[in-house]
Amino acid sequence: MILNSIIQEFTGLIPFAVILFIVFLIIPGHFFKIGTIIALSLVFGICVSCLNYFITQIQLDVLKFSPSELWMKPFEHDISQCGLQPKDVNIRYRFANDSVALTFFNTVTIDPMMWKGLEHDQAAIDAKKNIETFVTPKIPIKTKLFLDNIKNIMSPEAQKFIFKHELGHVFHNYSLKYIVLAGTMVAVATFIALISAGATITSLGGTAAIMIGLTLGGSTKLILGYSKNVFFKAREERMADDFAAQFSTKEEIEAAADFFEHYESHAQEYRKDLELNSNIPSIILTGYTDGKTRAQELRNKITI
Ligand SMILES: [Zn+2]
Repeated sequence: MILNSIIQEFTGLIPFAVILFIVFLIIPGHFFKIGTIIALSLVFGICVSCLNYFITQIQLDVLKFSPSELWMKPFEHDISQCGLQPKDVNIRYRFANDSVALTFFNTVTIDPMMWKGLEHDQAAIDAKKNIETFVTPKIPIKTKLFLDNIKNIMSPEAQKFIFKHELGHVFHNYSLKYIVLAGTMVAVATFIALISAGATITSLGGTAAIMIGLTLGGSTKLILGYSKNVFFKAREERMADDFAAQFSTKEEIEAAADFFEHYESHAQEYRKDLELNSNIPSIILTGYTDGKTRAQELRNKITI
């Protein structure tokens, strides 16, 4: 898992390295000056944030299925109950793999394959047909079994908590913060790469300086990525859980705790099957607290 992310991280650097090389060919005499390095780092950071923003918007624009009127009512009720305006929150049906529901800006996406109670909603039926045609055939059998297991442990009360958790992300502007942070990380990594390459180019030569720049820049991005999971993503997840708990009944919180606990057992089995289990805590790898700890944290909120 770690090796995969390292490979991904370094493959992702290739377009940046190519652009930097072209800039170097255009302005070789000014390339390693501090002003140029800061400007290039800022431009890269801003471009990554803007790209992330527009790509996410495009992905949201193609989502056409939202709950039909009768099925929208309970969602709108929950949105109002959480102090938000129903007109300010979009709901769309979308395959979410093992995440059940996800939030992008002010759009909460619900997985109709997982969500219970949508059996007679025509929009959910149509969305499911699309997923079954285009997505399901590509899912490995072990993943299908894992997703079935998650669906089986879902309860209406847990769903209510999960939906309010997603509203917590809308309330706290999670997506926008994430996009700004991702751009900042790229800017810092670019700065480190260029500064280290610039500091070594005269003594070690071009090839060695490029390798040092790539390695230090890539490592910086990797470390920042894991730090982002621990110090940003995990914190945002807790804030969304706090938000949901504030507007949930004791039964809903208890049901969510049960769900996350069972989810963790199934996830561990699934990872064992695929030999993906790792000694590194999930909070570092993904920014999510493991389900059992999360369940305990939720139960603690009931007793407060
Ligand atoms: Zn979340």
